[in-house]
Amino acid sequence: MLHSRGSVSPLSRASEVFPRLMMAISVIAGLAHLSFIFLFDAIGVGAMARANIASVLVYALTALLTQQGRTRLALQIMAVEILLHGSVATALIGWASGFHCYLILIIPVAIVSTSYQPRTKAVVAVLVGLFYMLMDMSFRQAQPAIEVPPHLLAGLHHFNQAATLLILGLLATLYYRMVHSAEDSLRELACTDPLTQLRNRRFAMEVAQHEAAVFQRGGRPLAVVIGDVDHFKRINDHHGHAVGDTALRAIARVLREGVREVDHVARWGGEEFLLLLPATEEEEAIQVCERLRQGVQALAAQNLAGEALSVSITLGVALLQRDESIEQALVRADRALYEGKQAGRNRVVLAGQDGAPVL
Ligand code: GH3
Ligand code: MG
Ligand code: MG
Repeated sequence: MLHSRGSVSPLSRASEVFPRLMMAISVIAGLAHLSFIFLFDAIGVGAMARANIASVLVYALTALLTQQGRTRLALQIMAVEILLHGSVATALIGWASGFHCYLILIIPVAIVSTSYQPRTKAVVAVLVGLFYMLMDMSFRQAQPAIEVPPHLLAGLHHFNQAATLLILGLLATLYYRMVHSAEDSLRELACTDPLTQLRNRRFAMEVAQHEAAVFQRGGRPLAVVIGDVDHFKRINDHHGHAVGDTALRAIARVLREGVREVDHVARWGGEEFLLLLPATEEEEAIQVCERLRQGVQALAAQNLAGEALSVSITLGVALLQRDESIEQALVRADRALYEGKQAGRNRVVLAGQDGAPVL
């Protein structure tokens, strides 16, 4: 379809996605710390169990702050919690516990955050990276202060690893979706005429080339139509540009709604429209255009923008010929349109094969 029936979706912004990420991390981290309370309680390390109660409260706070739109503060609190908790737990239980994994998460979260300048993000990333390496050097070989049974240590290690990977995966997924939807919105914007929401000339030409190629390979016939609103300058002059715009939008709607799903309607220029009607023979193309012409004329009765307007359109129709380029067919349609204007406007004119109008 050349015309877009829905409105263009707004671009997804990092500032909209980042709070979702912060909320997701707060919930996952909160639940992880909740399970640590029971774990450390079960193995009799009361101090760590109590530390995790504090962490659960911290993540409840970051969720609340994120909900209130204070993501910058939430991020700062989260970073301090991860740094403190990750390094203290690593120091006490040992490198093998895997608590150091969480420190790595600060880097991507800080980089995708929307509250800081790139330079601040780079400094945070480098400092966290250096701190992580320093911890590795200090604690990988060191004897932990708290002895945890080997099977529990292995369980902790894998739990921490899995939670870190889950958050990394979530981060990547959210950002992939954001980039993807921003790309879709940009493509849509690049192809859409902002006034009428029809496809624009650039996109229309791509579709026209494609349809022409299909026909030239022995496919379905293609009717090429150029419509030009009659005496549109007068509408602007007499009623103002805003009313002119309203009329253009109304005409675009008539054209869009008056064709099949497989047909294409685009804004070709100021008050000119291009229609591509695939699988349409001459007679049917003329019938369609005649119906559209009448539809535009009927707009006069609708009192557009509170003013009685006399609107009409002249349409030039050309059936793409074998071995003819789409540009040549467009020239013939344009000539037929010109003839229609000469003959008094508000009519449909079929181009002859050599360019001379036949209707
Ligand atoms: P004709 O029947 O020969 O086509 O006469 P016309 O007045 O329609 O043709 P002309 O080319 O003299 O004028 C076209 C006018 O369309 C002039 C231009 O200001 C107006 N126009 C082009 N784009 C827009 C637009 O986006 N909004 C409005 N309101 N007017 C536009
Ligand atoms: Mg014109
Ligand atoms: Mg005109």
